[in-house]
Amino acid sequence: MEDFTKDILICDCSSEEHQLLVRYFNNDTVPEVYVSMHLAKRSFWERVMYAIDYVFGHQSRYGSFEEVILGPQHINSLQSVIDHIRKVEAKKAQLELFKNENSNNENSNNI
Ligand SMILES: [Zn+2]
Repeated sequence: MEDFTKDILICDCSSEEHQLLVRYFNNDTVPEVYVSMHLAKRSFWERVMYAIDYVFGHQSRYGSFEEVILGPQHINSLQSVIDHIRKVEAKKAQLELFKNENSNNENSNNI
């Protein structure tokens, strides 16, 4: 099983239908963070009406969005995501520097 961090951010409004699932691998090579949004389950007829609207191209002028309100309680989770991405990017930069130094050394040895 892969070693990854998983965090669920519940909306400030406390509705458990408004949540984000944040996941990322705990290694130094994958900087991507996957954020999934929970889709609230609607009744059958609400979904049918939405589908009909969708088929005929009707939608809110604002588009179709759900929202999750983030607040101070999410700071640690968001900081962990930022720390992860920065750590992976720093590691990539170190590897690039190492590769460049090695290729420069190889070129100077060939002269
Ligand atoms: Zn909410």
